[in-house]
Amino acid sequence: MNLYEIKGVYKSYNNKAKSRVYAVYNIDLTIKKGEVLGIVGESGCGKSTLGKMLLKLEQPTQGRIIFNQQDITDYSFKQMRKIRSGMQMIFQGTANAFNPYFTVEQIISEPLNNYSREAKELKEKKIVEMLERVGLNKTYLTRYGQEMSGGQRQRVGIARALILNPEFVVCDEAVSSIDYALKNQILQLLTDLKQQFGFTYLFISHDLASVNKICDRVVVMYLGNIVEIIPHINYQVQHPYTKALLAATLIPDPHQRERKRVLFREGEDLKIPKSGCVFQNRCLYTQSICQTEQPALMSKSGEHYIACHLCHNY
Ligand code: SF4
Repeated sequence: MNLYEIKGVYKSYNNKAKSRVYAVYNIDLTIKKGEVLGIVGESGCGKSTLGKMLLKLEQPTQGRIIFNQQDITDYSFKQMRKIRSGMQMIFQGTANAFNPYFTVEQIISEPLNNYSREAKELKEKKIVEMLERVGLNKTYLTRYGQEMSGGQRQRVGIARALILNPEFVVCDEAVSSIDYALKNQILQLLTDLKQQFGFTYLFISHDLASVNKICDRVVVMYLGNIVEIIPHINYQVQHPYTKALLAATLIPDPHQRERKRVLFREGEDLKIPKSGCVFQNRCLYTQSICQTEQPALMSKSGEHYIACHLCHNY
């Protein structure tokens, strides 16, 4: 069953109706209930913008967003308030995310005070339980953000996002700024909470090792477009961009990595081409059709989708 249906969604920040310069371009996607959907791609590929549109923190320029079978695209602030507690976001880094005058208790209780009418004692009990779930204890209740390490603040950020028991959580580079050991602990925590409460996550990251650990399916974005959807990151990928992205990231030996990088045309123009495939300026396999026709995102087999003329033909 789908939690989200995203239909023909665009986001543009210039108001030119016919411009091809979009932050997000014609996205069609579904997110199933209970899955962890990864979104990968370079900085500026539109992954965070897409996450924010799903939470209605940004308004799409065009297209529809269906959440739990309700079309929320044009929902007002008041209408969103009724469902807002069911969708939350864990942000990248937390150094500046918290009010420096708030204690941990105040930080975590903020969403409860906004959306829940439960008695004070019940709220306090929930906060302590959630702190314990994220590996902290009640001695942290009176601490301020600046009195904790980056990892502890990240855990408080997770506790705040999950305190309302949301159905859907956008994790935007949620483990990018923390060390390896803590990253593994937090990924395990997110997995445990998902199994315990059935949360659905959109896991936005440029860290493919973390994506490999936690995600059920992975969407690859390039310049605002989905270029490939794969069942998992170790899948036999076909799109030239995905191949280059994986080759540049997952190979521990830097010499090997450099050799693999020839899969990309380095230093080429990163502007969105006026027509055709968005990756044509960097692709080593560009054909004449790639310059004129934008490849559609087509099913290859099962959960594998790809947008590439070359790959469609074999
Ligand atoms: Fe390369 Fe053409 Fe495929 Fe785009 S459509 S990735 S330019 S081969």
